[in-house]
Amino acid sequence: MAEHPDSLLPEGLLEIMQCPRCAGVLKERAAPPALLCEQCRLAYPIADGGIPVMLDDAAVSLDD
Ligand SMILES: [Zn+2]
Repeated sequence: MAEHPDSLLPEGLLEIMQCPRCAGVLKERAAPPALLCEQCRLAYPIADGGIPVMLDDAAVSLDD
């Protein structure tokens, strides 16, 4: 059983992640799984296994 069922990422990972564009704080979104940068208005997808894909090419605009 997971210790943190509300988090998709391994414990402590979100705290050390930052937006590759602005180095800002990221927020986790459950569905579809992603890390959000509200400053850049981008969502970076979280792949199976809880691995965030922090690539510009993979990021999806939050405003679309
Ligand atoms: Zn950003």
